[in-house]
Amino acid sequence: MTDKVTKNSGPRLHYDCTKCLAFCCSIYERVAVTKRDIARLGKHFGVSAEEAKRRYTTDFQGERVLKRVKDVVFEETCAFLDQKTRGCTIYHGRPEVCRTYPGQSRCAYYDVLKFERTQQDDPNVVPQVKIIFREDEAGE
Ligand code: SF4
Ligand code: SF4
Repeated sequence: MTDKVTKNSGPRLHYDCTKCLAFCCSIYERVAVTKRDIARLGKHFGVSAEEAKRRYTTDFQGERVLKRVKDVVFEETCAFLDQKTRGCTIYHGRPEVCRTYPGQSRCAYYDVLKFERTQQDDPNVVPQVKIIFREDEAGE
């Protein structure tokens, strides 16, 4: 998520995180962290893993996740997102899941952003994307 500093040197990517509002850091209500992620966070901030866990993570339905805050663009976002630059403030200490996202050469949210800005002929338009899980559609 939000690859604002280092560009991937692998296959050509069809998205540019430096021109994105960080949908990935905002629209998912949980960014899961492993013990290894928490240890890395602790190292990044110069505190113990236990302290990093207490300060920067919370429990979400039995899973350890990064804390979230109100956002100026979306409803909420990751507590580590710089809400002005839309870049990650802990880039070298970010969790594994952020390092691998989106895991393919296209990012659907970036495509939607580009599409809508072209459609509206407005470089500042931001489509609001929300993920919902509809139980009544399960199994279809
Ligand atoms: S939503 Fe996609 S393009 Fe935007 S910051 Fe995240 S990975 Fe990058
Ligand atoms: S840790 Fe950084 S890359 Fe990961 S969700 Fe938070 S702001 Fe985004």
